[in-house]
Amino acid sequence: MSDIIKLLPEHVANQIAAGEVIQRPASVVKELLDNAIDAQSTSIKLIVREGGKSLIHVIDNGAGMSATDARMCWERHATSKISKAEDIFQVKTMGFRGEALASIASVAMVELRTKRPQDKSGTCIIIEGTEVKSQEPIGVAEGTSILVKNLFYNIPARRNFLKSDAVEMRHIIDEFTRAALANPMIEMSLYNNENDVYKLAATTHAQRITDMFKHKLNEHFIELNEQTTIVKLHAFVGKPEFAKRTRGEQFIFVNNRFIKDAYLNHAVYSCYENLISKEQFPFYILFLEVEPTAIDINVHPTKTEIKFEDERSVYHIVKAVVKRALGEQYHIPIYEPSSNEQFIQTHAPISSRLNDDIGNSKFPNNDFSKPSNRNDWQELFEVLNRKKETISGHHFIQLESNASKPTLIQQQEDASRNITQIHGSLIISQIKTGIMLIDQQAAHERILFEKYLNAFRQHPMATQQKLFPKTITLNAHDEALLKEMMPQMQILGFDINELGKNTFSINGMPAELHAQNEQELIEDLLDSYKKQTYNTTERNEKISRTLARKAAVKSGTMLSVDEMTNLIDELFACSTPYLSPDGKHCLVRITLEELFGLLKK
Ligand code: ADP
Ligand code: MG
Repeated sequence: MSDIIKLLPEHVANQIAAGEVIQRPASVVKELLDNAIDAQSTSIKLIVREGGKSLIHVIDNGAGMSATDARMCWERHATSKISKAEDIFQVKTMGFRGEALASIASVAMVELRTKRPQDKSGTCIIIEGTEVKSQEPIGVAEGTSILVKNLFYNIPARRNFLKSDAVEMRHIIDEFTRAALANPMIEMSLYNNENDVYKLAATTHAQRITDMFKHKLNEHFIELNEQTTIVKLHAFVGKPEFAKRTRGEQFIFVNNRFIKDAYLNHAVYSCYENLISKEQFPFYILFLEVEPTAIDINVHPTKTEIKFEDERSVYHIVKAVVKRALGEQYHIPIYEPSSNEQFIQTHAPISSRLNDDIGNSKFPNNDFSKPSNRNDWQELFEVLNRKKETISGHHFIQLESNASKPTLIQQQEDASRNITQIHGSLIISQIKTGIMLIDQQAAHERILFEKYLNAFRQHPMATQQKLFPKTITLNAHDEALLKEMMPQMQILGFDINELGKNTFSINGMPAELHAQNEQELIEDLLDSYKKQTYNTTERNEKISRTLARKAAVKSGTMLSVDEMTNLIDELFACSTPYLSPDGKHCLVRITLEELFGLLKK
């Protein structure tokens, strides 16, 4: 029998390799953008037609290529970025495998025009199915322009496999977005069928995010910086209240390369636990910088997956930094009740203005070791200092000493002046910048949720004994479950006795739990216990959430001023006062400006 093994012709080998790198028009876009970025361009223009199927055109003003390189770059394994195997571990460029252009040329018609700054004329090369059709000198601007036409024209099976223009365009926009986010200092534009989709000026990271997503720094997201020996982290994380119900605004870049990393995503998501609901997705962009030797980017042909040498440490650093940032924003009571300065200045004498600012400041509890309170004090001193600056010639020393100890009467007076309930469901409180609107039910659910969680952690709830114990009957399955759940029930303040034959007597209930249908309540709690998942913490959270939902004051319940004041104080003593355990907003602040805006036409 004759020998049967032969070497594949070059163009077939390239087509097979292309299958790995070039799956769709967006893959071409990614590779061309990467090359333009690697060429130190300061301006990149991307033009596509029909979802990139008929045309992808990238024009950059980067380093350009010599006439020889313009021919060489289409060869497989032709790269200027590495020269020996070890270099792979030191890569600082986006590309390095030298196969993108070879792959593209094997599955499309391409035209390259390029010129280096030092050369008199440029080069134009036309290639079809790996064959050079023409190469000639031309006069062009410095930089490189690559046209990729009729992708997969020679592989009908692949061309038919492509999705609609709109879908392919979405993938292209994704790639463009990633490149644009990672390179804000490069001016970038995207045109689709002659319409401009993006025209982005060179700018900072924060401004580019604003330009692309319309999110605003400080208003919608927070910027973080952290440097450790393992990783340098520069991140932008969305405020929980702007989390969306659809995914798509989560990005992780490592050494400026977009990557997919479920593990790191988890690190970020876990920081939003209890701040947003399970159906919501926070906005975040992480830029991680590590030593090139600490990662392997060559684990995947499209380089969107990488391997960290010390994955666990990176995970914990990301988690700690994001958590701290969100904590600083959300563990701090943002309640700063006080009259608006403009208003006080016209309506009250200066001495009472100051007292207003101070007397109204609520101190959620008197544990000054908590950062939240330190911040309140800081705020207080800021108020004092601001007053000092703006109002001259008054006796601040006296006022200051007076002010630092707000009397109870003062507080109550202020409370009664500033807090009202409307429709038996919303609390309105005047704050320094305008008003705060609080959903009483959502707020109370948050307060109780944290109390119950705390009960599990350290302080069991007090029990209120019933004058007339109540008997409940359960089915056999639930009976077994309730027996199993008894320790938790005790912690929550239930006093339950087993009477036998599937019946139990409820002798006592959590002190703050008002009249309830006991049978229904127990069944609901059993239900959340049944849904137990991985661990005790999660199960306790579920039980706490259910009980909080059951026990909270409902919309439509009238509250006294004292009750409302207490509710607000307790809300701001919570670790996350912003959202209910189900992810509903507990409160919103509306500035005077916004209020007046409503009245304007
Ligand atoms: P890689 O990027 O992995 O090196 P490519 O096939 O993408 O491989 O590109 C091959 C080579 O062509 C690059 O190493 C680079 O020297 C050159 N090149 C490609 N695109 C450009 C460009 N836009 N400007 C300047 N040089 C380029
Ligand atoms: Mg490349």
